[in-house]
Amino acid sequence: MTEPEKQTKAEKLNEAMIPESPRWDEFANALEAALDKWGCDGDAGPNVHRRAKRIMAEMGNIDIPASLAFIKDASGYCDCEILLNVDPDCRVFRHLVADLGEHEGKERQ
Ligand SMILES: [Zn+2]
Repeated sequence: MTEPEKQTKAEKLNEAMIPESPRWDEFANALEAALDKWGCDGDAGPNVHRRAKRIMAEMGNIDIPASLAFIKDASGYCDCEILLNVDPDCRVFRHLVADLGEHEGKERQ
């Protein structure tokens, strides 16, 4: 009397984009590239998270409302804050540190 678990496949179709996801790096790298090009639209108004939403839609099979709910919970209130507050690799900081490194190299003693 075993019941086949037919729902397993359907549940896997849409995943939430969270740092634990195997595709988080793909998402965060794409977001980093988008922010490099176009910047962030801020945390208010109709364009909030527009880059992230676009990237998630393009990646496919992502539960976008669930992802954004998680991201806001983790203090990612705009696209750049996703990389600042949610991304475990802090891709935003990598840029800042790279910039600082250049200045430090010119420091006199
Ligand atoms: Zn921002």
